[in-house]
Amino acid sequence: MPFRIVSGDITKLHVDAIVNAANTSLLGGGGVDGAIHRAAGPRLLEECRTLHGCRTGEAKMTLGYDLPAKYVIHTVGPIWQGGRCGEEELLRSAYRNSLLLALEKNCESVAFPMISAGVYGYPKEQALEVAVSTIRAFLEENEMDVILVIFDRDSFRFDVRLYSEISGYLRNTYDDGKGPGIILGDVVGSAAVGGGSRPRRSLFSRTKKARVEECARALPEEPVEDEEAADAITPDAAPPVMRMQAEAMYCASAMGAAPNGLAEALSNLDESFSQALLRMIDSRGMKDSECYKKANIDRKLFSKIRSDVNYRPSKQTVLAFAVALELDLNETEAFLKKAGFALSHSNKADVIVEYFIANKNYDMYSINEALFAFDQNLLGA
Ligand code: ADP
Repeated sequence: MPFRIVSGDITKLHVDAIVNAANTSLLGGGGVDGAIHRAAGPRLLEECRTLHGCRTGEAKMTLGYDLPAKYVIHTVGPIWQGGRCGEEELLRSAYRNSLLLALEKNCESVAFPMISAGVYGYPKEQALEVAVSTIRAFLEENEMDVILVIFDRDSFRFDVRLYSEISGYLRNTYDDGKGPGIILGDVVGSAAVGGGSRPRRSLFSRTKKARVEECARALPEEPVEDEEAADAITPDAAPPVMRMQAEAMYCASAMGAAPNGLAEALSNLDESFSQALLRMIDSRGMKDSECYKKANIDRKLFSKIRSDVNYRPSKQTVLAFAVALELDLNETEAFLKKAGFALSHSNKADVIVEYFIANKNYDMYSINEALFAFDQNLLGA
């Protein structure tokens, strides 16, 4: 995934390079610097001695030694002095120069701590904004997996106003099983969605053509992973592809149709997820790269989807493209359905994404910051 926020200890990450928030001497210190030196072993300090320090905003590279990361990029963030001493530009330079050094050394993945947000005292919310916007600008021009590591969740300061709005939306919408949630239709005036709330309709009350079409369509439910459940195949209990086939067979036998009823149903499949995605990219006049970058999707994954008409994406991937394509909620539902999914009000992440889409806020970085703030999986690959 091109950009991710994760919580944890940066010294444990298996990436090409981790970034060290060092001091100008490069001879070790406290905080993340101390943790990196401890985990890398004494050879790191030996190599650091040969570098003769580093100026604020610049970056230098060493090997990772005993770390799982191949390299350490040492950069020096500014000490916060109230914000009028060029701190922001120096912090941006620290991120930018680290990223450029990673690019020069052909790193495909780089992890950052929140530079300057510890003992150097940079206000955490502003430090986060500088980190995210600088990484984002870099990723608009370059391909790389960049991870921002939040060591303690207290150091992650999400926009307070947005946080309380999302909290309110979750209170009204999220169905935690303790009471009725509001169905999507109530929120945006669209049809009710989700497996549980979908009214059951008889397959026998429509024309043959309508029945066959219905049979060939996948229903919007999560795939069933339990093999036993898949064996006991009923149209509503199987994964989408199996369910589709089961429904077609069910229809054919119920109608007393000849065996070629199934063949006919299968030859009339709807447009696949991959076909729908490519069609919508074209119809919007978007470039592929513009779309996958906006979706926070890795180029390699996009190529796979492009070349495989039957590609089965994860729900997060579908939602990421729905955001990139700026679909409204009804379109998002239809798009999810292509891959066998639906938005669920029993799923906090779904409700959060729904909040952003309903408010026409298609900024993937804000959505992922919100998902992180609420401890949910991020969108993208
Ligand atoms: P600075 O001097 O640049 O402020 P610090 O090391 O004091 O550097 O803190 C920078 C950030 O690194 C802080 O947000 C701190 O919580 C975080 N941090 C400390 N240890 C680790 C670690 N092991 N992994 C990731 N982040 C860490």
